[in-house]
Parts: sequence; structure tokens; C-alpha cells
Amino acid sequence: MSKFLDERYNSLAAYVPGEQPQDKKYIKLNTNESPYPPSPETLAAVNVGETEALRLYPDPDGRILTKKIADLYGVESKNVFLANGSDDILNFAFIAYCANGRKVYFADITYGFYSVFANLHSSDYTVIPLEDDFSIDADKFCSVDGCVFIANPNAPTGLALSLQEVEKIVATNPDNVVVIDEAYVDFGAESAVKLVNKYNNLLVVQTFSKSRSMAGARLGFAIGNEEIIADLHKLRYSTNPYNINRLTLAAGSATIDSQNYYDDNCQKIMDTRAWTTAELEKLGFFVLPSRANFIFATSDKIDGGELYLKLKEQGVLIRHFATERIKNFNRITIGTPEEMQIFINNVKEILEEN
Ligand code: PMP
Repeated sequence: MSKFLDERYNSLAAYVPGEQPQDKKYIKLNTNESPYPPSPETLAAVNVGETEALRLYPDPDGRILTKKIADLYGVESKNVFLANGSDDILNFAFIAYCANGRKVYFADITYGFYSVFANLHSSDYTVIPLEDDFSIDADKFCSVDGCVFIANPNAPTGLALSLQEVEKIVATNPDNVVVIDEAYVDFGAESAVKLVNKYNNLLVVQTFSKSRSMAGARLGFAIGNEEIIADLHKLRYSTNPYNINRLTLAAGSATIDSQNYYDDNCQKIMDTRAWTTAELEKLGFFVLPSRANFIFATSDKIDGGELYLKLKEQGVLIRHFATERIKNFNRITIGTPEEMQIFINNVKEILEEN
């Protein structure tokens, strides 16, 4: 840290992304990426012509992709906002609705970026503990006096709220924005997009990073009332209007055109999730019922941190959080069936050695 840094940021604890060690090739089950490549149409869209066009700025409104997303979700272009990954959108939402002492509520065990943004933007934040079974009690987020951020399905638990529960939270907070972060919704949860025409305080945030195999391209989108979307555009135009590059816009459009391919991948991942869950349960693990492309599991036969380290030695990366409440759990991204077979074999070996 230099002596020049604004002292407001001295104690800021930055977000720690999942590790990407370069020492050898790992089976990477630690950052919830898709194990499947982008569709042939997506690959073809990132072509020489598009690369030559990199000398030109991209369309700052990403109009072609915006319209495709609007059509897919049954809304209008004015209800859709694009950004450089959904983290970019969450950041804008914090700036717009809960910065400088304004109130915001989120769960104790949830996406780690919410507290980072809350600290970065000096929000007055309240952490609402999950229940003992790690579920969210929707009532605890109803009629609060500030903005609400909920990951649905939640991370790292994988548990999801029903649409009725989400609607209750949105309906009881008419004077505050409710952000529903649906990064993992395509793996079996219900989207709140169908509520955006009914409530002007709802912002649904999604990403191309998980179900659409584009984590490396950085593309997120949000759907909400046109006034909220206009707020976000105002902030985006005040920071970086060209926040999505041409190649990502082209890839994103082709991705929407090949939706069936991605739907099939989601189904494969859900099938592999069921298989992996059953195999871990046979080994005595407790696995939360996940609606995401990862599972959250614990065993009383081995400490969570130890399992993480031993798997890493064997070339399998999973995610361990040292947070007190979940330190005995591990979050395991669902890979291909072959990768999950190797993961299960390694877990078996580790338990036998123990
Ligand atoms: N929300 C949640 C709940 C996440 O787990 C992630 C992925 N780390 C994100 C948002 C951000 O995803 P991206 O910026 O890649 O769209």
C-alpha cells in the first residue's frame, strides 16, 4: 500500500477470487465455470472479421445483444442492461442504491463480493444470518429499511428461494431496490425475471459466466424496470461506456442464438450434480440440495480444509472458505462426468488413507 492511497481504503479487504495455480494442470472445480466449451456458433462469431474490427470502438449500448436478451426473456430493450460480468452490475447497483451510509441487507453466508462492495462504497450494511440449515428465511428480508441483495440460488450453499418467497421480499420493500443475483439460476431455480413488469424496485442480475460458458469473456446482464436500468446506464456512461468489448458482444449474440446447446449443457450438469451428490452421500458426506452448478458438502470423517489440501495435491481444485460457520464444508463445482469420477475416486482414496 502506498502512502498516497486514500485512507478510506486502508482497511478495505479486497475480494479474493478462486485460485488459478499455474504449476500443473488441475481438474478445476473451484470457480463454478462450465466444463463445456462455448457452442460452435459462439466460436464462429469470434472470427477474423470481428477481430479486424477491433480497431473500432464497440457499440456502447450493445443494441444487437440487448434486443436478443430482451426477446429471450419477454421484456423490452429498455429493461435490459449489459456489463462486464455481473460483478460490474453489482458494483453499479451498490453505487446507485446503497453508497455513502445508505442501508443494505444481505446474508452472512453469501457471495463474498457484497460485503466488499459495501465496504468499498461505505454502505451501512446489516448481515442477516442464514438459518441453521443454511436456508434463507425470506421473512427476515421483508420490510427492511434499505436495499436488499440476495443470491438466488445462494452461493456457496446452492439453496434456492421459491418465486413466491422472492416476490414477498420485493413486494414488502416498495421503497428500496431488491437485487436478485441469479448467477446460477439456469441450473434448476426459478427466475424472478417474470416479476419485473409488476415491481419497479426489482433488479434481476444474470451472467454468461456459468450456464453460457463465457466466464473468460466477461459478460453479465440485468433485467429491471426501465428507470432502474436508466440509473445503471447513467453510472456506466460516467465510468466506462465501452465496458464490453466487440468480441464479447459478438460471442454473446451468437450464444443467445444457440440457446438449445446451452440448455442441453445445463441438463448434463444437473444430471452430473445428482450423480456426484449420490456418490458423496454413499461416502458419508452431507450435501445440501443444490440448484446451482456446484454442491456444498461436509463430512465428519475429514476436516474441510484438509480435504481441500489433499485434493489439491492430487490435482483437483475445490473451494474451501475459512469462515467459521462453513469451515468444515467444501464447495465443489460440477465438471464433466469424467472429472467428477476422478474427484470421487480421489475422495475415496483420501478417506481410506485417513
Ligand atoms: N454472483 C454470484 C453469486 C457469483 O457466484 C458470481 C461468480 N463469482 C458472480 C455474481 C459474478 O460473476 P461474473 O462477474 O463472472 O458474471
